[in-house]
Amino acid sequence: MPKFSYLLKLLTFLIGLVVILEAISYVATRVVINKAVTQNARAELLSGGELFTRIMQTKVEQLALSVKVLTEDFGFKDAVATSDEKTIASALINHSARVKADVGILIASDGKLIASDQTFGLQIVDEFNNLKEQAQVRGQAYDIIIVDGRAYQFVMFSVKAPVVIGLAAMGFEIKQDLSVELQRLTGLEVSFVIHDGKQYQYLSGTQDEKSRVVLLQQMQTENKQGEVFVYDELISLAVPAARQNNDLLAVLQVPLSQVLAPFSRLNVQLFLLALVFSVLAGIAALFLTRSVTHPVRVLADIARKIAGGFYSTPIAVTSKDELGDLARAFISMQQAIGEREQQVLYQSEHDPLTGLPNRLRIFPELEDAISRSRPLKESVFLLVIDIKNFTQINDELSQEIGDAVLREVGQKIARILTHGEVLRLGSDEFLAILMAAQRDSIAELAELIHAAFKTPLLVSGLQVSVEVNIGLATYPQDAESAESLLRRANLALNEGRGSEQCTCWYEQGWDEKHLRRLHLFREFESSLNAGHISLYYQPKINLERADTLGAEALVRWRHPEMGFVSPDEFIGVIESSGQITILTRWVLKTAIAQLRVLLDEKIKITCSVNLSALDLLVDDLPAYVAELLQSHKVPAENLYLEITESAIMREADKCLHNLRRLRDLGVTLSIDDFGTGYSSLSQLKKLPVSELKIDKSFILNLDTSADDQLIVRSTIDLGHTLGLSVTAEGVESEAIKALLKSYGCDTAQGYLYSKPLPAKEFIQWVHKYLAELTS
Ligand code: C2E
Ligand code: CA
Ligand code: CA
Repeated sequence: MPKFSYLLKLLTFLIGLVVILEAISYVATRVVINKAVTQNARAELLSGGELFTRIMQTKVEQLALSVKVLTEDFGFKDAVATSDEKTIASALINHSARVKADVGILIASDGKLIASDQTFGLQIVDEFNNLKEQAQVRGQAYDIIIVDGRAYQFVMFSVKAPVVIGLAAMGFEIKQDLSVELQRLTGLEVSFVIHDGKQYQYLSGTQDEKSRVVLLQQMQTENKQGEVFVYDELISLAVPAARQNNDLLAVLQVPLSQVLAPFSRLNVQLFLLALVFSVLAGIAALFLTRSVTHPVRVLADIARKIAGGFYSTPIAVTSKDELGDLARAFISMQQAIGEREQQVLYQSEHDPLTGLPNRLRIFPELEDAISRSRPLKESVFLLVIDIKNFTQINDELSQEIGDAVLREVGQKIARILTHGEVLRLGSDEFLAILMAAQRDSIAELAELIHAAFKTPLLVSGLQVSVEVNIGLATYPQDAESAESLLRRANLALNEGRGSEQCTCWYEQGWDEKHLRRLHLFREFESSLNAGHISLYYQPKINLERADTLGAEALVRWRHPEMGFVSPDEFIGVIESSGQITILTRWVLKTAIAQLRVLLDEKIKITCSVNLSALDLLVDDLPAYVAELLQSHKVPAENLYLEITESAIMREADKCLHNLRRLRDLGVTLSIDDFGTGYSSLSQLKKLPVSELKIDKSFILNLDTSADDQLIVRSTIDLGHTLGLSVTAEGVESEAIKALLKSYGCDTAQGYLYSKPLPAKEFIQWVHKYLAELTS
């Protein structure tokens, strides 16, 4: 639908109004004029009728004079008296011709009729008899009489000598020329019509053939005698033409166009006037509507700008009318919205607790810093600062104190890093964006921050010790975009946390490693379901009794795209993602099922399964193990579970509880990787373990390292003192095996015997080993 603007609507309305008014007044004027003109024409016609009658009268009088001259002519009288027909006829002919009469007649006293025109057949019609009687009485008479369908104006005189000896008459036919003459004199169309008892006939007149027919039709429909009537733009009046014969009428007419002619110019003028008024009205309407719509349009533009978020458009308001008021209201609205938006924006981009910009500002600030650093040839340093012990503060003191600490820490950092931008990332993390040419100056600032927290914060009268970790990444050295810069600074923070460094700079490859870890953790479960993960077995040999066999189940992951993934790499990943319990259950299930197979093959063997720290926190693990052993009918003493020292240190009580439950099942527990952690002997004593596995790092070079020999020897002694059996892993040579044996080590595991093998190959290996043993 086309859009009708207000301007167009108003314009259409106003111009339409003017046009309608003009049209009405034009029509009204025309109607009035027409009426006046028609009335005028009627009056004219009526007076024309009178004039017509008078002219006819005059004509009759002239005729009468000439007839009188004839009747008084002595020769004629004599001829009449002597009834000399021939003389009478020639006199009639002569006289008629002289007075231009159409016919001359003499009616002798004996009633005999002599006419100038031989063809003239005069019936003695009533009118003629009337005329005769009048002439005999008064000496003269006149009337129009119809003879042979023609109208004649007859004037009749008595011929006296001195008594009446006859009657003489002259007749003038009412013909075209009379009508034309009458028209000339009256200015009207003249027609003579007669009613023959049935219908009207046109005798003569000025009208053309076509008009005559129409006129006769009009006359036929009603009796129009004596009154004005109008048809076909003709104003007409029918008057009696004869004295006696009422059927003979003269119709006088004037065309309306003729009377209206003088007014047609007025018409044109009226029309032009209306046109001029309409145009003027249009121009006026245009100005009027523009004066209204222009400011409205300006305001609408401003409203659109406000909607688009531009609040600074200056509006110059000059008018003092309502529109001016509206514009002023707009301005104050614009300002109010602008201020409010500013406020909302500020609130949305700032942390209400510390007053620092929040994470919404990270990328704008970072990108700004990056673009400013380029021309200066400086680097952008991104520091992620996290309060190491915040959870503890929050939990042990209170949330209010936690909030106060956050506020204090934020302010402290901002005071130190005045040249940079400090933001609050979330919870207990802050972010600082700094620019510098040298890394050293930033390292110094990081030191200043740590130093600032050396003294405890004073919060609500409490001394609160705060420590922070700082992760750092540099643009453009460490990252090419703001996004990766932030990710890498966070990675550095995490690395620092893990490795107990309070300031940790991002190092090349960490992000890639991180991404690979992400990939591994995403792929793990589908790989397990797809059978890309399998279990290998490595033999454990008793050094005293070589036929006492054990095995350690070790997981292998062969990814179709990534290839072989070392358990050292992915175990850590799935531990941190919580997927380790899924793996452990799968390993337990597979290993116990494999134990069943081995026992069925009559191989006496134990199998060790590695547990991770998280497994020990799951309460239903002992129940799960018991169920598996039962369903596979595998005795509990055939199962060993290996746990690392560090695993037990976390949530020690819970771990201990679960370990006891496992031991109570009859399962043997081992301490794996012994020597790498910090566990003390006293702690070890409390654990329900039966085996101690010395970490391979002490074994691999045992034959050459005196230190390792010392450690391993004392560890074995220590284990025995605590009543534990001792296993050495990573035994690669006979020499090392011999050394271990001389130290009293109970069991050895290592490449000397075999690498971890798939189940089938492992069974083959065992058969071969046992066969060699007996031979
Ligand atoms: P670990 O429990 O200390 O396992 C012993 C590791 O030493 C195995 O590495 C084994 O292949 C290797 N090893 C054995 N003998 C020798 C030797 O003579 N020389 C050398 N250089 N190495 C030897 P692997 O299989 O790569 O496993 C690495 C670690 O991954 C394991 O250390 C264990 O902590 C973890 N892991 C493996 N499988 C599992 C599992 O099923 N569950 C859990 N939670 N962790 C597992
Ligand atoms: Ca192990
Ligand atoms: Ca180990």
